[in-house]
Amino acid sequence: MAWLGRDVERWATTDDARAPAIRDAEAYSAELLALDRAHVWHPFRPMPGVDEQLLVTEAEGVRLTLADGRELIDGMSSFWAAVHGYRNPVLDKALADQASRFTHVMFGGLTHEPAIRLAHTLVDLTPDGLEHVYFCDSGAVSVEVALKMCLQYWRSSGQSEKRRILTWRRGYHGASLHAMSVCDPDDGGHASWQGLLPEQVFLPAPPASSSTSLRNATTLARTDDEQLDPAYVDTMARTIAEHADELAAIIVEPVVQSAGGMRFHDPGYLRVLRDLADEHDVLLIFDEMATGFGHTGALFAADHVGVTPDVMCLGKTLTGGYMSMAATLCTKRVADGIRQGELPVLVHGQTFMANALTAAVANASLGLLVDGDWKGDVARIERALRRGLQEAVHVDGVVDVRVLGAIGVIELDHPVDKRMAEAAVDNGVWLRPFGNLIYCLPPYLCTDDDIARICAAMVAAASVGADPNPPRP
Ligand SMILES: *Cc1c(COP(=O)(O)O)cnc(C)c1O
Repeated sequence: MAWLGRDVERWATTDDARAPAIRDAEAYSAELLALDRAHVWHPFRPMPGVDEQLLVTEAEGVRLTLADGRELIDGMSSFWAAVHGYRNPVLDKALADQASRFTHVMFGGLTHEPAIRLAHTLVDLTPDGLEHVYFCDSGAVSVEVALKMCLQYWRSSGQSEKRRILTWRRGYHGASLHAMSVCDPDDGGHASWQGLLPEQVFLPAPPASSSTSLRNATTLARTDDEQLDPAYVDTMARTIAEHADELAAIIVEPVVQSAGGMRFHDPGYLRVLRDLADEHDVLLIFDEMATGFGHTGALFAADHVGVTPDVMCLGKTLTGGYMSMAATLCTKRVADGIRQGELPVLVHGQTFMANALTAAVANASLGLLVDGDWKGDVARIERALRRGLQEAVHVDGVVDVRVLGAIGVIELDHPVDKRMAEAAVDNGVWLRPFGNLIYCLPPYLCTDDDIARICAAMVAAASVGADPNPPRP
């Protein structure tokens, strides 16, 4: 095939032009990995690279294929994202069909069906009252937009002194600077960024839920009869009252604090936050980037208690893990408030806003989710995780094992090290332990057998034990 006299096959190939000359596939992989270490930055890692990355060449269903031919079950869903698996025929077709129409047009002055339909679906699926959708190209950006919506809301209503944000400790909301200011102050290294990050108001981390722990389990099912901690509720009430005059918004990860330690809390605290926010005239943001679209057993974490936040951030699973897209939804109250100001527009825009290819895949992914039995799948995975992780309770050095929806966590009394990920890989499973945690976020199409293998790999990783010669800090 030719286009303007050019050989389409030749120019479309993404392989290194020299690849055919390199006969030895192993040598070629080694060369790629050396280039990776020299030039390619990986998340939260030094440069040049010091880790051994695994080179992925293909992925299908729940399995990743490595350059050396090994196959791994992806226990991470590419980080809360690829719940329908790789090379999903429905998503592949949505992508190809949209590519055959157009892939992107600017969103200022132009609009298109994939974005309109996606916004309509999101309004339909999310808690009642969230009406308006701002499309972003990544999660951190959607948090920036959420914060900006709230700040602008108060500015527009003549209360620009309300410009601090309250959150609880152990949070994670993205790696951009304003998002970092509401991440955990210790983990986010706020001290070393002093003067650069806005100083926000912090509550202690919410008390951990006990019903999700397998140490307390007597049956395969979870119980939902917890009590909120009255002392914590009192601290919430006092802190919010004390800072109400300067608070624009409260932002939290509802039900699951992921990067802050895969900690689960009782959804009842969300209702307390809603009531306190209303009482003190503060806006409430739920960052459901990780929890959205079923992972916790409800479509959104907010649904556990039927609470509507003023602003909600979505991402990760939104496109079934195919591409980067996030969205910030808000209520009519927030949009109306912004419109009443001297500056009646939301001051935000992005070149690739509402990318059509991405929106088309998101529509297909949400269609699969809603028309399929995500609830049954997540409940089935929860049971399989509770079964498969039970024996981890008795492994030396394990302090807790907990399961919520399609999230399984083993907490250790010692830091993880690379031998643990290696043990998982030796068991045919891709995991990414961090801190003192070995955890999984399996794709919803995992079979019970896949989940049993993931659990066995997690137990094997936990059984590696503490590093006898830990690197000096
Ligand atoms: C992943 C995540 C983000 C950041 O999303 P990116 O797409 O990585 O920028 C923000 N908040 C929460 C709760 C997340 O899990």
